[in-house]
Amino acid sequence: MNTNNELIYEGKAKKIFANKNPKEVIIKFKDDATAFNAAKKSTFEGKGELNCFISQTIFKHLINQNIPTHYIHSHSKSSFIAQRVEIIPLEVVVRNTAYGSICKQTNIVPGTIFKDPLIDFYFKDDELNDPLLTIDRILLMNILEQDELILIKELTLKINLILKKFFSNIQIKLVDFKVEFGKNPNGKIVLADEFSPDNCRLWDLKENNGKIESLDKDRFRHDLGDLIEAYSEISNRIKNFISST
Ligand code: UDP
Repeated sequence: MNTNNELIYEGKAKKIFANKNPKEVIIKFKDDATAFNAAKKSTFEGKGELNCFISQTIFKHLINQNIPTHYIHSHSKSSFIAQRVEIIPLEVVVRNTAYGSICKQTNIVPGTIFKDPLIDFYFKDDELNDPLLTIDRILLMNILEQDELILIKELTLKINLILKKFFSNIQIKLVDFKVEFGKNPNGKIVLADEFSPDNCRLWDLKENNGKIESLDKDRFRHDLGDLIEAYSEISNRIKNFISST
């Protein structure tokens, strides 16, 4: 990477650099992993490249299905070029099966399959520990207008349908995921950030002595085994699937 590119922002798992074109940025995936609002930290060599490949492949797949995203083109093994967007400070979480925080905060039993996917909105604010929001709070806080919120919900449900199918093709169950949206230089709302095993729960549907195996960041959160092995498994299954179609 050209080291003259100015670092615009450094997050927990990515760095954003300016590109020559001011309407674009370079998104570089780091090998760092954090959990529990960065209370747990580690580095996994190769994670950046794996997440970059997985994220790019998913963005390209979504673009082919008419979902607007910030993705433009590949840049290096661990970076891609994207539209420069103003991130909307919401973590949009979709749940197909109950797991994680929803089971800690309610009496919903882990593993419960939802008839309709549940969308939860969280305020993207580390200091406040990303609190759960309501639709009325989002409007009161002027984060979005009503029509923008409706659009984001529609896009998120479409993304869920497309990706549930995508992952079931490679024998993986999409349990839940988090996405972020942004406004591009034309003011259009597009899917932004990343889509990688850092931000979703992916359960292996391949027989494993009746045991559910997590192929996502829960491996790091709860010490469930080698993270790179799981992310490589996803990447390899995606590559094999692409080459067979
Ligand atoms: N998630 C995320 N970033 C966050 C919080 C959650 O990417 O700051 C993802 C997480 O990986 C999972 C989904 O959103 O796929 C739902 O997470 P949950 O609310 O269950 O929180 P957790 O149990 O992970 O704390």
